Amino acid sequence: MLLKNRTAIVTGATRGIGRAIAFRLAKEGANIAFNYASSEAQAETLKKEIEALGVGCLASKVDIRDYDATQKFKNDVLDKFEGFDILVNNAGIIQDAALMMMTKDQWGDVIETNLTGTFNMTKAAIVTFMKQKRGDVVNISSITGIKGMPRQTNYAASKGGIIAFTKALAKETAGYGVRANVVAPGFIETDMIGGLDEGYREKAIEQIPLKRFGNVDDVAGVVSFLLSEHAQYITGQVIQVDGGMGI
Ligand code: NAP
Repeated sequence: MLLKNRTAIVTGATRGIGRAIAFRLAKEGANIAFNYASSEAQAETLKKEIEALGVGCLASKVDIRDYDATQKFKNDVLDKFEGFDILVNNAGIIQDAALMMMTKDQWGDVIETNLTGTFNMTKAAIVTFMKQKRGDVVNISSITGIKGMPRQTNYAASKGGIIAFTKALAKETAGYGVRANVVAPGFIETDMIGGLDEGYREKAIEQIPLKRFGNVDDVAGVVSFLLSEHAQYITGQVIQVDGGMGI
């Protein structure tokens, strides 16, 4: 087991990529604290599945846009597990629209959730990591944050921001034993892309050298590797998990 005796916070773990990451880290031996926005039934199910693996689990309804709530979440994690040393900032949303049609709310919601949410949760965790001179951060960005995509100026800005944030964080905290990396997925089969029509999907797959959309385990495996002893000399990097789409 790659992550025995470790404790991880994973944001947005009730569905999709976050769920797969939480489950994978638990299988590797880590205790898991996860949060979500509203999916209470899914949270309860995941908590039971994680506990059945023999590790501890804390599930909390915490909006990552709320600075005070993220601080309280961190304190609850410290109370339950007496420490934690992994943070995976995964929770994110899309609200796609061409810029000429995009509302101020669509811009604000995406930036607040994806970018400010990542700031809030990392800010909550970083003092613990720096004090204990140990901690690993993995932030989930997107291929859109590297290449840009039409109708995603808000999302691209948030995901590009996460990459710049992580590089600055990696430089700032390396001296305290903290590593920070980014995983940038391409198209991954989750609710987030469930609305794509068949024609769009076929065209998108044509652009992917490996000729398929990814699955959530393709991402979770890379996150697990980055957190493990096998990646201790890697920091400030962006790992694209995109079937070659970004080449
Ligand atoms: P998803 O299936 O839509 O799941 C999103 C998760 O985030 C859910 O657990 C949701 O909780 C949680 N969440 C949303 N807003 C939140 C908030 N304000 N506070 C707390 N939790 C919140 O998304 P996904 O496809 O797995 O995406 C996960 C991450 O990967 C995102 O950052 C996304 O941008 C990124 N990504 C996805 C793809 C893709 O193709 N799927 C590609 C590149 C990058 P509830 O269940 O309670 O709503």
